[in-house]
Amino acid sequence: MSYCILQIALDTPLDGVFDYRWPCEPGDEPAVGQLALVNFGRREAVGVIVAIRQDSQVPAGKLKDALAVRNQLAPLSGQWLALARFAAAYYHRPLGEVAMPGLPKNLRLSTTVALDRALKKLAKLEDTHDATPANMPALNPEQRQAADAIGGAQGFTPLLLYGVTGSGKTEVYLQACAQVLARDPDAQILVLVPEINLTPQLEANIRTRFPGLMLATLHSSLSEGERMLHWLAAHQGRARIILGTRLAILSSLPKLKLIVIDEEHDPSYKQQEGLRYSARDLAVWRAHQLGIPIVLGSATPSLESWHHAQTGRYRKLELRERAVRDAVLPRVRLVDMERDKPKDGLTGALLHALRQRLEAGEQSLLFLNRRGYAPVLCCESCGWISNCTRCTANMVLHRPEHRLRCHHCSLELRIPHSCPTCGNIDLQPLGRGTQRVEEGLQAMFPQARILRIDADSTRRKGSAQAAFDSVHRGEVDILIGTQMVAKGHDFKKLTLVGVLNPDTALFSQDYRASERLFAQLMQVAGRAGRAGLESEVLIQSRYCTHPLYGAVMRHDYDRFASDLLAERHQAALPPYMYQALLRAEAPELAIAIAFLEQARDALASSTVTINDPIPMTMTRVHNVERAQLLVESNSRPALQAFLTAWVDALRALKSRVRWSLEVDPLDI
Ligand SMILES: [Zn+2]
Ligand SMILES: [Zn+2]
Repeated sequence: MSYCILQIALDTPLDGVFDYRWPCEPGDEPAVGQLALVNFGRREAVGVIVAIRQDSQVPAGKLKDALAVRNQLAPLSGQWLALARFAAAYYHRPLGEVAMPGLPKNLRLSTTVALDRALKKLAKLEDTHDATPANMPALNPEQRQAADAIGGAQGFTPLLLYGVTGSGKTEVYLQACAQVLARDPDAQILVLVPEINLTPQLEANIRTRFPGLMLATLHSSLSEGERMLHWLAAHQGRARIILGTRLAILSSLPKLKLIVIDEEHDPSYKQQEGLRYSARDLAVWRAHQLGIPIVLGSATPSLESWHHAQTGRYRKLELRERAVRDAVLPRVRLVDMERDKPKDGLTGALLHALRQRLEAGEQSLLFLNRRGYAPVLCCESCGWISNCTRCTANMVLHRPEHRLRCHHCSLELRIPHSCPTCGNIDLQPLGRGTQRVEEGLQAMFPQARILRIDADSTRRKGSAQAAFDSVHRGEVDILIGTQMVAKGHDFKKLTLVGVLNPDTALFSQDYRASERLFAQLMQVAGRAGRAGLESEVLIQSRYCTHPLYGAVMRHDYDRFASDLLAERHQAALPPYMYQALLRAEAPELAIAIAFLEQARDALASSTVTINDPIPMTMTRVHNVERAQLLVESNSRPALQAFLTAWVDALRALKSRVRWSLEVDPLDI
């Protein structure tokens, strides 16, 4: 019997490509890109074959045989492997750790029962292969121009679709899709959206427009069985439109011809743990590798993308008008909370506006990005406050649930009857979350139908969708919610948006806070008046003269972005600087800092600035102390070269501190 050597990437924290022996006649070897089952340590694991060799560096006695090759599954393509290799190199993670988690869990099992079942199910599905669009609405001239530019683009073409809220970006995407599909009957199109709760609306839209095509969705709330089926449909090239959240960027799409990224500025495109990748950035790389167009859409593009459009790297397409006839952008007014003192969090001006909407039978939305009843419970006689014992954070009062909850480590306690330090029974909630605003509204407007939508009210699967449906059906007069309600939704009867407490972000240490606040305010303001009803947005603030609010009032993203870019340039911040962040976690802060000091001194560089370690703003989470060290350079290649050498040096430190490296961090 003769053998070949399979080099297999496995999902391990070690630098994970391993050699295995596989019995086969010459010319009958498995293919690169196939999955294989192997023994790894004491467990069985599935990995992907990344190379096939005749010999191995591993001594023959130590070489194990692979257990099985998944022949029923077509190999992952060389292009897919190249994407995984790029991501691994760019984010400085082991190849297997990048490649494997992108695959459905059911593909990574020891048995093939689930795989075989899914393949059988797929084989029974009929291919309709009819890309003829249906029910396509007429576009206005701006939309037409944009759709033609995307649909007609050849080769790698990054396009920034900059369109005000309600300008009908979705229609532009869909008509561009229709053009691509008309030209290439086998084409696959990947549409990325930031949040799962936005997909039902878009999914329904795609199905109506392309009734003859197979659509696959890929997001984290699918069951494992569904995810397997959808992933396979994409892998086989049979699903023609793939609609997904960030993880979908790593799926196998052999006939990919167009990528659409909706709300490209949204921070949820960034994975915040494990492999901290940016799905948007990987998508641009993937489009470049395949030589296909990619469209990035937003009303408030990220400064990175805006900068690329200004410098000509991206082609800019603009939608300045709202798509619905006579729909204009809402009027934005600032309400000075110093003069108009709020009652239960609501100023007189906002209460008056709410009353008007109720009388007119129109809907209102109150936006407060803070869930719970109050951010902290305190004792006024001794100064006790509800700290979390495990985190540098307060425990949030959740009155309806009778709990104090830490939003960082999920510690839960019953609300104390009296002060734990002095016994005072009169404990006071301080500040205001969505639950408290809801309570105040109910007291002031007992006849109104009030609905709160936040992470607490939508814990059950499907409850978020049910809540949004009831708003769409007009069963809600006043909607109160966190950022969950700010994005994407097209509420036809909504004519008033009230923003309750945006000021804190103005003075954040995070240099991206103002970019985010502006995007958030424009997004939430954009929920109003989309169907042509006259509408307004009231922002309650103590800092009414702040230039950020001025820009929001004028709906002036261009000006805001160019001012902010000038500031970033002067302060040498991204997108003029490339950054990476080394984080360390330890039971004691001094240990984490000591490790980072060693890391700082491990490697000298003339092209990269290595800063001093500092504790993270939220130093302790779940009894773990956290510190970080920033490295930066004005050259991306210089930073990358440094990181490659640095990661080797860090591994050689053999510290027991848990550390992780993040390239292009969003939160510093
Ligand atoms: Zn007390
Ligand atoms: Zn905690």
